[in-house]
Amino acid sequence: MLVVMKQSATEEAINRVVETIEAMGYDARPIPGHQRTAIGLVGNDGRVDSARLEGLDGVLEVIAVSHPYKQVSREWKADDTIVTLANGTRIGGSEIAIMAGPCAVENEEQILGVAHTLRGMGATILRGGAFKPRTSPYSFQGLGVEGLELLARAREATGLAIVTEAIDSEGVEIVREYADIIQIGARNMQNYPLLRRAGQSGLPVLLKRGMSATIKELLLAAEYLLAEGNSQVILCERGVRSFDTHTRNLLDLTAIPVVKSLSHLPIIADPSHGTGLRSKVTPMARAAVAAGADGLMIEVHPQPDMALSDGAQSLYPEQFAELMKQIRVIARALDRELVEMPRVAV
Ligand code: PEP
Ligand code: MN
Repeated sequence: MLVVMKQSATEEAINRVVETIEAMGYDARPIPGHQRTAIGLVGNDGRVDSARLEGLDGVLEVIAVSHPYKQVSREWKADDTIVTLANGTRIGGSEIAIMAGPCAVENEEQILGVAHTLRGMGATILRGGAFKPRTSPYSFQGLGVEGLELLARAREATGLAIVTEAIDSEGVEIVREYADIIQIGARNMQNYPLLRRAGQSGLPVLLKRGMSATIKELLLAAEYLLAEGNSQVILCERGVRSFDTHTRNLLDLTAIPVVKSLSHLPIIADPSHGTGLRSKVTPMARAAVAAGADGLMIEVHPQPDMALSDGAQSLYPEQFAELMKQIRVIARALDRELVEMPRVAV
């Protein structure tokens, strides 16, 4: 339920509504907006008697939120959420943010080298897994904390922000010491204790769509993060399972405009995991930006043939440079721009 205040409502009237909601046994979440202030009521899972709120000073109307994902919905918050990182990158506004890097951090030379290269080509966020959720227990599982330390070194050297995955609750506590964005992977989209911990971390969270998750399930998973008080959430379409095995997954581009109409949260696309095929990454990256994605996550490796994971879908750096050129043109056609790196000493 949402209590929408009149534009003329005073601070005192807003506080009064908050106190009343709390006295009724619920939590109040004030949501300042461009046009109006609204106060969300959470903690109920059914009907609430709204008469007590409707009669209060400064209240314009009381709206029942029709979606089960409340705080994530556009009904709850009409304005787009913009996630801002320490290096100035903004995700969810008119700009398009580019995250790029290898699937996994492998060694110092690899990650520092590729970070400098990607920085020069216009990425502002470096990706790289230190804790890898691999389908096979015998595959490379990541360097762990050593990988995080290398990512931190790459950030220091280049000014790139860092996104990296946490695969369990203890991992959240470790990753938050190093990263700018905590990634929750597709395999963990419905790991609710992990979502709660990530929600409490105070860091922006990149939530990837589960490989068989509906859009509604994705939005409900995001609701777990917002329910913990973390509204700095970025959604990611990374492909879903399909009957067609030609590509690794089916990148569901329709999810982008659908999510944008249902939710105020930014959504990016990951055409690397979405296709699994290097030659298909650039076309689908172009299509995702054309469909309205707020950013891209692209796997790039200095030597894809030697990669310890996901080499077949990793771009060569030169291919990434070409992709960036093309994305700039598409963004401009949509009155958008790529996020440019703020001037930092490197
Ligand atoms: C990844 O980003 O490397 C990854 C494992 O992605 P996903 O969770 O989408 O499979
Ligand atoms: Mn990968």
